[in-house]
Amino acid sequence: MSASTWGGTDLLAEENYPLPLLKLLLKQMMMRFGADGACMALYDEAIGQMRVRVHTRLKRARAAAANSSSVGSEQAPYPTETARRRATVKLNMDDEETWEVTAISPASHHPRSQSAATDDIVDVSPQQCELFVPGSTYAQSQDLIGSCWHNNEAFVMRHDNYMKHFRADQSTPPHCDVTPAYYLVVPIRESTLVDEACGEPRPAAMLGVVVLYYYVEPIGVTPVYVQKQRAEALNYSERIALALQNCTLRLQDERLRRKQRRTSEYLQLLQNISSVFPTSVKLSDLVENIYHFVSRVVDVSGMLLTLYDRDLDRLYDIFAISHGQRVEGLAEKPTVRLKTERPVWWHETQHEKRKLLFSPANDTEKAHIYQELLTGVWGDQRHTRSFLLLPMKMFNRVIGTICLTSMQSNAYQHEEIQVLETMVQIVTVSIENTKLYERDRAILNDARQREAQLAAINSALQSISSVLNVTELLNNLVESVAAITKVELCVFFEPSASSEELIAHALYAPSSVQMVDDGSGMPIITPPKKGEPDKLISLIQLPFKGTFLEHMADEGFFYLDPPKLEELARSSNDGGKIFLGEMGIEHILMVPMSYQTEFIGFLAVPTPSGNRFFRPKDVGTVLAICAQAASAIRNAQLFEQREEAYARLERMDKLKDEFLVTASHELRTPLTAISGYSSQLKRQSARATSQTVLRFATKISVAAQQLSDLVASITEAAQIGPGDRKMDLHIEAVQVLAAAEVAVNMLTHNSEHMISLNIDPQLWINGDAPRVRQVLTNLLENATKYSPPGTMIQVTATSLLLSEVEPLLSDDQADPTLLLDNEDISVILVRVKDKGEGILAADQQKIFEKFVRAPRSLTTPVRGSGLGLYICRRFVEAMNGKLWLEQSIANEGSTFSFYLPQVSSPVDTVE
Ligand code: ADP
Repeated sequence: MSASTWGGTDLLAEENYPLPLLKLLLKQMMMRFGADGACMALYDEAIGQMRVRVHTRLKRARAAAANSSSVGSEQAPYPTETARRRATVKLNMDDEETWEVTAISPASHHPRSQSAATDDIVDVSPQQCELFVPGSTYAQSQDLIGSCWHNNEAFVMRHDNYMKHFRADQSTPPHCDVTPAYYLVVPIRESTLVDEACGEPRPAAMLGVVVLYYYVEPIGVTPVYVQKQRAEALNYSERIALALQNCTLRLQDERLRRKQRRTSEYLQLLQNISSVFPTSVKLSDLVENIYHFVSRVVDVSGMLLTLYDRDLDRLYDIFAISHGQRVEGLAEKPTVRLKTERPVWWHETQHEKRKLLFSPANDTEKAHIYQELLTGVWGDQRHTRSFLLLPMKMFNRVIGTICLTSMQSNAYQHEEIQVLETMVQIVTVSIENTKLYERDRAILNDARQREAQLAAINSALQSISSVLNVTELLNNLVESVAAITKVELCVFFEPSASSEELIAHALYAPSSVQMVDDGSGMPIITPPKKGEPDKLISLIQLPFKGTFLEHMADEGFFYLDPPKLEELARSSNDGGKIFLGEMGIEHILMVPMSYQTEFIGFLAVPTPSGNRFFRPKDVGTVLAICAQAASAIRNAQLFEQREEAYARLERMDKLKDEFLVTASHELRTPLTAISGYSSQLKRQSARATSQTVLRFATKISVAAQQLSDLVASITEAAQIGPGDRKMDLHIEAVQVLAAAEVAVNMLTHNSEHMISLNIDPQLWINGDAPRVRQVLTNLLENATKYSPPGTMIQVTATSLLLSEVEPLLSDDQADPTLLLDNEDISVILVRVKDKGEGILAADQQKIFEKFVRAPRSLTTPVRGSGLGLYICRRFVEAMNGKLWLEQSIANEGSTFSFYLPQVSSPVDTVE
C-alpha cells in the first residue's frame, strides 16, 4: 500500500484487511450490478465510525459523464445502459419520511465481461471526487453510508434526492469530475451462519457499507424489481461479509501464531535474562543485558536507566542510549543528581509508582509536563513518537526507572509492555541482589584486609621478637613496616653514643635502590647482611642534640614536612643530606621509640610520593609494631651487652691462664738463674776467686734485672689502659737516631743480627725520650727474637704528612677523624723491618692485646710475656702517635711501624 494512493493517511496502514482483497470484492460487485463507480466503507472500531477504505470507478467514467446530458442516447458507451429503465419507487425510512428512490434493471441479466472490466476499473483520488474520499469517516445516520448503517437495509437513491436530504445545508455541491445520477447503497452484515448452525443465533453486526453509483438513470424500473434488486444486493453483500470474515479469521490466526512465536521467544529471552542477572554482579554487564533484551522486544531509539540509592540519597543515570547510540562512560562515571534536581522523576517514582506511556511528538502538553524525563543525559526525546517509563519496584519501593523512546507511533503495545515489565521485575531483583552482594563483598573484603593486617602485624612481631641480634631485629622491623605500609623506604635511626646525632642502623630500600647505580645520583646502598650493621647505612646521620627532633622524642608520632626536612638536611652530614634531599622524600612519618623512659631511636617512614600522610589505620599498625619492637630492641641490646661482657670475661680468663703459664715461665727463667748462681756462690764461697764471685754476681744481677723488668712490665701493663693518655710523660724533642742507637745498645739478646739504622740525624720527634727508646728496644728485641740469626734488621725513619701516613695504617688503626684539621701535620714514620717468620693474618691484630702471643711463639723456646706490643702501642698513643703492623709475610718478614709528631731540630734552633 503506497501512501500516495491513500493520501498518506497513517491510519489506513493499520487496517485489518488487505487492500487488494477489498478492491477485488468491490470490482466484482460493480460488475455484478453494472455500476459505474463504487466505494466500500468499513467499521473502524477505534473511532466507532464507518471509514471509506476503497473508492474505484470505471476508466471510461469521464466519457460516460460527458454523455450523461444525452440520457438514453443510442451512442451511450455502456452495453448495460440499453438494459436500464427508469423507475420511481417510495422507500420508507425510520422517520417515516418518504424518499424518492430509483431502482435499476437487473444487471444480472447483462453482466459485464469480467476480463474487460477488471482492467477498466481504477482508484479514484480525492482530487477527482470529493465524495467518498478514502479515509473519510461517517457516524451512524450521517450521509448515505451512515444512513444505511443506521437502517441496516439496502436502498436506492437518486442524486438530486441525495443532495436534498443529506447535503441541503451545504451551499456548494461536492466537487466531482463526474456526478453520479443515483446510488445503490448496501450494508455488509456480519454473517451469522456459523452461530445459527451451532444453534446460537445472535444479531448480525455491521461490517461496512458498499455504495454503488450510476451516471445514467435506468428507465422503467418497477418497485418489484427494486425490491428484488435490493434483496440481490444484500445477498451479494453477504458474500463480501463472508470473504471479509474469512480474511479476518486468517489474519487473527496469523496474528495468534505470530504472538505465540513471539511469546515463546520472549519466554526464552526472559529465561536467559533471569539466568544471567542473578549471577551477574557487575552493573555494567547487567545494563548491557537489559538493553540487549529490550531492543529485541521493542523498537528503541532512546533508553535511560536511572537508579536511586537510598543510602546516599542520590539518583544515578547509569546507562543511556541516545539516538540509537550508547552514551559512553556512564557505567564508570554515572550522572549523579539530588532528588530535588529531578522533582518530576521523584514524584512519578515515589508517588505515582506506575508506568507512563504517551507520544511526546503527538501529545505536546504531556511532553511539556514531563520535559524533565524527556531530557538529560540521553538527549532531547521530545520529538519521539513513543515514550514509556517503567518503574523498577522492589516491594512497592521504586529503586529506579527504565525509560524507552521510539520514533515509531504506538511502538509499545500492551503485550510487549507486559514482557518488559516482567523483565524489569527480574532486573530489579538482580540489581538489589547485586547491591547486597557488593555490600557483603565490601564487608568481607574489609574483614579480610583486617585479618591480613593482623596477620602481617603478628608475623612482623614474631620476626622481631624472636631475634636477639639487634641489627637483625631492626632489619626485620624496617622490612615489616615497609611491607605493611606499602612503602619503599624505611629507616631506623638510633642516637649515637654521645647522643649528638642520630645514626641509621637499619634501612629497608627497594632492591633497585640497593643494588645498582642507575646514574640517578641515588646512593648505592647494599642490603645489610643479617645481623651485621652496614657501614654505608651508618653514614646516614641526622643532627639530634639541640634540634627539634630531640624535643619530639617524647611525642607519639609526627610528620616531617619539606621545610623541616630542609632544616635537618642543612645540619646533616653528607649521608644525611643525600637521604633527606636526593631520594625524592617529601614527608616522613617519624615514630619515636622508647623503652620505659629510655629513648631508643626513631623509625622513619617516608610517605609514598604525593601523600602527605598515612591512613590512620596504617599509622596505628606502625605504632603497635613499634611499641612491641621497642622492648624487643631493648632486650636484644641488653642481651648483646651481656654477651659481649661474657665474651670479654671469657677471653680475659683465657688470657689470664695463658699469662700464668707465660709469666711463671718468664719468672722462672731469671729466678732459676738467680737461685742457681747464688747456691753455687754459696757452695763455692770458701774457695771462689774474686773473679768467679764477680761473674756469678753479675749473672745474678742480670737475672734480677730481667725479673725486675718483667715485673715492671706487668705492673706497667696493669696500670695503663686503652685510650689512657694521662701517663706521666715528659714530652720533649727526641732525636730519632740517638734513641735508636741507645735501643740497639740496650738489646739484651744476641747480636747475631745485622742491624742497620737508616735515620737522618735531623729527624726529631715530640715525645718522652725513655718511652721512645723503650718502644724502639721492644720492636728491635722482637725482631731479633722472631727472626733467624744472621738476618738483617732495618730501622728507617721518614718525615711525612699525616695524610700520607694514614693510608698505610692497618684497618683496625685507620681513623679518618684524626685527619680532620690535622692532615697537614708532619710526622716521623719509623719502621722496624725484619726477615723473620712473619705473623698469621688471624693474629696480626691480636698480638697488640695484653698477654697475647702468637701461637707459633708459644711453642718456640723464645721467651716473652705478650705485653711488649701492648705497652708500646699505649706509649705511642699517649705521645699522639700510632703503632701498627704495617706488613707481614710468612717466612719473609714483618714490618712494625709507628709514627710520632715531628718537631724541628732543637740543635738547629740553637745554632
Ligand atoms: P712477647 O714478644 O713478649 O711475646 P710482644 O707483645 O712483644 O710479646 O709480642 C707479642 C707476640 O707478637 C709475640 O709473642 C710474637 O708471637 C709476635 N711478634 C712480635 N714481634 C714479632 C716479629 N718481629 N716477628 C714475628 N712475630 C712477632
